[in-house]
Amino acid sequence: MKITIAGSGAMGCRFGGALCSAGHQVVLLDGWREHVDAINTGGLRVSDESGSRVIPVPAALFPAAADPADLVIVFTKATQTAAAAAAAAGAIGPSTLVLTLQNGLGNIEVLRSYAAESRLLAGTTTLGTELLGPGHIRALGSGETVLGALGAEPSDYAERTVLTLSAAGLAARVADDALGVIWAKVAFNCVMNSLCAIASIPVSALARYDGFDALASSILREVAAVAAAEGVTVDTAAALALMKAQFDPAASGDHLASTLQDLMNGRATEIAHLNGAIASRALAHGIEAPLNALITQLIQLLEATWPRRVNRLHP
Ligand code: NAD
Repeated sequence: MKITIAGSGAMGCRFGGALCSAGHQVVLLDGWREHVDAINTGGLRVSDESGSRVIPVPAALFPAAADPADLVIVFTKATQTAAAAAAAAGAIGPSTLVLTLQNGLGNIEVLRSYAAESRLLAGTTTLGTELLGPGHIRALGSGETVLGALGAEPSDYAERTVLTLSAAGLAARVADDALGVIWAKVAFNCVMNSLCAIASIPVSALARYDGFDALASSILREVAAVAAAEGVTVDTAAALALMKAQFDPAASGDHLASTLQDLMNGRATEIAHLNGAIASRALAHGIEAPLNALITQLIQLLEATWPRRVNRLHP
């Protein structure tokens, strides 16, 4: 298959590298010149617990003149989806499948302008990956990708895409309710990602706070109300149970949330697509979401002031 990765940071490289190794004709599109040059010069280096290997996969800078691909996987941060979709539009033809596994709300809405609803696939992934430097990623442990079709017409596009990913070693399954899966992850991140970033702590440290259940439940109630206004059910009890399962250092307990990593690296967070999207959608639906609005402002305060932090984790 001809596959274009639109946004080839940690996750785009992980998926693109695996699909290339499985024999697909992959191109990694990205906006970071040094990274693209490093991949084209020395290949994509993938490190994991078993060692390091190099995958000779071509990369190109956005915007790339491209013929339509069979599959385009959009893997920028949610803040860059609109720019990446515009820059990769040449790779999206009438029969191209477009898949987003990004975190946050708003990605699907952007991609609807570029792909027919029947060919748009969306979901989530729990695979963890770090970008160690130009052309070099670290693939963390195992994880699962869950995706589904968004169109009302029946199709086997989701099943076919799951087979493609699974055959490349990227464990995947079809979700009947892709929007529900995405909202469940948004609910999780609106609590875990944001609280860990505000407190500058690894996930497991949340277990030390006696007020966690009450605070998490209050944030979740707002998320669930906005989801309900959009026809999606968020199971708040299941979400809370999933969060508490992460407190175990053996689960993802010592993991640093991506919002905290973004702050530490001086990069924009996806907050506008997490708590920020809940706050703004709540407003549009005439619902109150004061906690999500406050959390958004606190993260934006951290983004603006991080270099002046007195206890910052990184100098
Ligand atoms: P990333 O931060 O690795 O890359 C995003 C973009 O930033 C890329 O274009 C990359 O080239 C650029 N970039 C990164 N470091 C840079 C630097 N030093 N200088 C210049 N540009 C730089 O993004 P990601 O982690 O792959 O996330 C993509 C999407 O997948 C997001 O929505 C994220 O929330 C989601 N996601 C990530 C993970 C994960 O483990 N990384 C897991 C699940 C979902």
